[in-house]
Amino acid sequence: MTVELFLKDHYLRQCDAMVTGLIDEKSVVLDQTVFYPQGGGQPSDTGVLTRENESFFVSGCRRNGAEIVHVVDKPGLRIGDYVKGTIDWDRRHRLMRSHTSAHLLAHVLFSETGALITGNQLDLDQCRMDFSSQDVGRERLKDFEQKTNDLIARNLAVSTSFEKFEDAVKRPELFRLKDVLPKNLPVLRIVSIGDVDVQADGGTHVAFTKEVGGIEIFDLKNKGAENRRIYWRLSN
Ligand SMILES: [Zn+2]
Repeated sequence: MTVELFLKDHYLRQCDAMVTGLIDEKSVVLDQTVFYPQGGGQPSDTGVLTRENESFFVSGCRRNGAEIVHVVDKPGLRIGDYVKGTIDWDRRHRLMRSHTSAHLLAHVLFSETGALITGNQLDLDQCRMDFSSQDVGRERLKDFEQKTNDLIARNLAVSTSFEKFEDAVKRPELFRLKDVLPKNLPVLRIVSIGDVDVQADGGTHVAFTKEVGGIEIFDLKNKGAENRRIYWRLSN
């Protein structure tokens, strides 16, 4: 298995690791990693694995059971090699800001309309989230944006904790973002934003909401009769 260092420290950019498996000559499993694999709407980290003076660029990662597979640009790494893994921090930090903003916006949508989140996709230049609603219209967007930005400006602390699956499932409010529920795990990670939002979540987040900066909501589309899709981006 791969130890997922990003679960406890979202700001860790680099780690030493050993190659413990090769799915193919360009798909590398490490004993531990700082690379977040795609999941819960958050795209994979990219970066580089270095072995002495040689660099293997990582274009993306994915989960494979309890392992994280790093896709590199060329063959050459062997089982037992020691490497240093470094993520593209500018990209990751932007995705962390986006992920925290997604939780705050989901909280606003839920508290203003009762909507549940049915899907989300974060990206560097825009993010989108689907939520259950038959009647929310564009005239509400400025209000949602303002309420989300008000939460960001309160500079709430974001913290993580771990809870047994059997205890966590007794608290349905932890699973508003249904698609990000990690399955088949004995322990779930819980992400809390101040006293306003608590969610079971495997992604990476900023430590304080002011780091998000602010958001702009720029579109709303119908996604079938029962759902709406809201689009936003970071304001800087
Ligand atoms: Zn999340």
